[in-house]
Amino acid sequence: MVIEMKNFINENKIFETLGEAESPSRQRIEIIINKSLTLKGLSPEEAATLLNCEDNVVLNRIFETAKQIKETIYGNRLVLFAPLYLSNRCVNNCLYCGFSKENINTEKKRLNTDEIRDETRALISQGHKRLLIVSAEDPAVDIDYVSDAIKTVYNTKEGNGDIRRVNVNVASMEVKNFKKLKDTGIGTYQLFQETYHRETYNQLHTSGPKSNYIERLYACDLAQSAGIDDVGIGALLGLYNYKFEVLALLYHAMHLEDVFGVGPHTISVPRLGQAQGSSVATHPPYPLSDTDLKKVIAVLRLAVPYTGIILSTRENAALRNELIYLGVSQLSAGSKTLPGSYSGEGKAQGQFSISDERSLSEVIEEITTRGFIPSFCTSCYRSGRTGENFMNLAKPGDIKDFCQPNALLTFEEYLLDYNPELAGKAKALLSLEISKISDPEIRQMTSGKIKSLSQGKRDLYF
Ligand code: SAM
Repeated sequence: MVIEMKNFINENKIFETLGEAESPSRQRIEIIINKSLTLKGLSPEEAATLLNCEDNVVLNRIFETAKQIKETIYGNRLVLFAPLYLSNRCVNNCLYCGFSKENINTEKKRLNTDEIRDETRALISQGHKRLLIVSAEDPAVDIDYVSDAIKTVYNTKEGNGDIRRVNVNVASMEVKNFKKLKDTGIGTYQLFQETYHRETYNQLHTSGPKSNYIERLYACDLAQSAGIDDVGIGALLGLYNYKFEVLALLYHAMHLEDVFGVGPHTISVPRLGQAQGSSVATHPPYPLSDTDLKKVIAVLRLAVPYTGIILSTRENAALRNELIYLGVSQLSAGSKTLPGSYSGEGKAQGQFSISDERSLSEVIEEITTRGFIPSFCTSCYRSGRTGENFMNLAKPGDIKDFCQPNALLTFEEYLLDYNPELAGKAKALLSLEISKISDPEIRQMTSGKIKSLSQGKRDLYF
């Protein structure tokens, strides 16, 4: 497949759509909200109308709807993961980033195989099963280095634990290298456009391969054409007008759906945070309030109900506790953004400052108190439920039959191996959730598998 790189982000159209959707009537908002409840998603025009709402009563109505849609599709599950930074040596100059080439304030480091193993062990010891490999654009972090790193991660064992899904956020590459990346058995390949506004993009990315806006825009196309059918997109909120970015994310999703028959698996909503040595990060050009971020997440939940939304530790614990109700389906937890800092002593600043410093166990204790089930499930991509196959199950609601029992099994495994203190408190929640599985056969099989876990079996899934 030859990919012709044409800009599919029509800026004028986005501005026009936002302009036309100003001051929407209550009736129009209700029509859009009712449409979203059919779980068929929203058009960019409809999303623009909701993004333009500022009135608290209307905003609460949008938040309540997002909560309802989230519960319908994702139940009370929250997928947890941690990033594993391989290198912060970068050839790019991105004015907001702590890893930027000319940013001499950050200690530069690239992990070797032993260090990757040590980091993986440290993460497994916390209870993690899903990692996101992240790297700055470092010429030494080529496809062979990344493939070896992924193999090291998958081959590392610690006690009963291991890493069962590796997602990847590294610079774009040629299709033949994406094919090699796919062969390592990755889950999702993700890359953020940072800002879809071309002029802003050019101003902020002053040198290095990443300064090419169009090549950046097509990274997920290249990955998909190499057979990686779960891709993740995102925008770094705070660099440009958030309403523009949300509509551009929707156009990006539509483009992938048009070309590959399946939209992005996930959308990430990082918000620009402090980064040592970056005045852009300290003074975001388009700061957005907590309420704006809530609106972004809620509108995305209504507009692309089956696309996962990822929230990182850039946001503080109190806000994350609110956002998990509004549409977020995946949370990073216990994160560190400096290579080597899970296993090493490193106190130096990472790529950006982390606002939620709770450990994985603290996050789990908090979310279970709120009735959420932490999920370390890695079953879908290991069972071939990716890309279109995944969406074909997700859209009629059938994916729940796998996700809910798998979440419970991975939670039980976590309790047995890493948090026996919580096990007593979580018993009632687990029993309640098992009793809620509607198919009697699956309910019984789930109970059977939970019993097998207590007898020492591991990695059981549907
Ligand atoms: N090689 C990858 C690439 O080309 O983007 C590296 C990704 S970077 C290590 C991961 C993400 O961190 C970036 O895509 C960006 O959205 C985010 N990021 C960078 N600086 C940030 C800051 N100051 N605050 C919050 N997030 C930031």
